[in-house]
Amino acid sequence: MAESLQPHLDAPANRRARRFRARIEVAHERKVGHDGDGGRRREPRRPAEPLGRSANKSSPPHSTPEERRERKHAKRRERHSLRYRLRQVTTLKRVKDCGHVSINGEGSGPALRLGVGKGGRIAGFSGLAHCGSVWACPVCSAKIATRRAEELADLMRYALEQGCTASMVTLTMRHNQRQSLADCWEALSKAWARVTSGKQWVSDQATAGLQGWVKAVEVTRGKNGWHVHLHVLMIWRGEISEDMAKHVGGRMHARWTRALQRRGFDSWRDSGGLDVRLATLDPVKGGGLHEYFVKLSHEITGGQAKLARGGGRTPFQLLTEGLATGLADDIERWWEWEKASRGRRQIAWSKGLREWAKVEPEQSDEEIVEEELPGEELLLIRPDSWRALRSHPDRVCELLEAAEAGGFAGAAALLDDWGLAWMVGRSAPPPLTKVQLDAYRAFPRQLEPTA
Ligand SMILES: [Zn+2]
Repeated sequence: MAESLQPHLDAPANRRARRFRARIEVAHERKVGHDGDGGRRREPRRPAEPLGRSANKSSPPHSTPEERRERKHAKRRERHSLRYRLRQVTTLKRVKDCGHVSINGEGSGPALRLGVGKGGRIAGFSGLAHCGSVWACPVCSAKIATRRAEELADLMRYALEQGCTASMVTLTMRHNQRQSLADCWEALSKAWARVTSGKQWVSDQATAGLQGWVKAVEVTRGKNGWHVHLHVLMIWRGEISEDMAKHVGGRMHARWTRALQRRGFDSWRDSGGLDVRLATLDPVKGGGLHEYFVKLSHEITGGQAKLARGGGRTPFQLLTEGLATGLADDIERWWEWEKASRGRRQIAWSKGLREWAKVEPEQSDEEIVEEELPGEELLLIRPDSWRALRSHPDRVCELLEAAEAGGFAGAAALLDDWGLAWMVGRSAPPPLTKVQLDAYRAFPRQLEPTA
């Protein structure tokens, strides 16, 4: 696992990583202690899956709604837990504050909201900071990937209705351990600009009938360093033959290679350096770019594993393993990742494609995560209670699950059990009747703000 590092960077970074390792170990112990205290769990918790191993496990075909809900909850806990542990090592303040700090300062707590989404009731908090990092935040990136997958599905359905067909092109580059992620990424961006410009590209688009493209950047880390590559969905007017798709893809690859070489890089032609295949436009059938984003939205710690070539690890796998082992190399690579990915786009659509497909104008990653959760405000958590609750991401998720299962009463009961103070939200149930009040008096539950 140890990789050669430039000596002048090595020493201080390693020292920092070792310090973090000690803190991480303490935090792990604390977490285990908390988990062991019983809380208000109604059923034994499933043992935690080894993180990063779940991506290749597809859902069992005949799972019940209950099993699907369980899995969804487990994934949410995994994402929240990883974001919480990431607070100890991240260099990005926004990521550190995400889902933790109240946007109105420490003097106010978040509101618990409940709405209805495609998959049923969905609870969340408002009034908390969100980082909107598609690369470095396990929670925000899942939310953004969900939206990107929905938009791609809309595009694909529209294109299918118009009688279009599609192909997928994957473009990769040669790399080694000494090349920095920032340099690889820069070379990739420049090479893509070269792929989509010039006379040849203009004439190929016209001849083959290209309606547009959507490209996504994917990065993994393997034994040969950073692996930065592109997946491109190409949408063709009418039928495209495999030969034609490969012909255009081959010419794209030639421009790609020339541009990389100009920057001191090179491409792979064999062993998956260029991959062109016909793709389905039916989002339900899956495959291609749409499924990639669906997977990303569900399987943060290993979602890219299926598409990753050469056994590399995704950055979230790197982080997860780095946090678990305290290995300085992994933590340093994560820092490099945070720095180099900042401000980069994960996905881009060709000009005019959104308008053609009547897909809403693009929202930025930040705009997506800052959208208020639809639904109603059930209750407000007191600031001191939030400060106590937020250091237990499992409990935070348990509260969301309680709200989704039992609404206002479920969430309020759980907070009471934990001795956490709350106030009635704008959409709490209407005042109770005398009979209900008497019943509540017999079994005291919170009708008014707790002390
Ligand atoms: Zn975030």
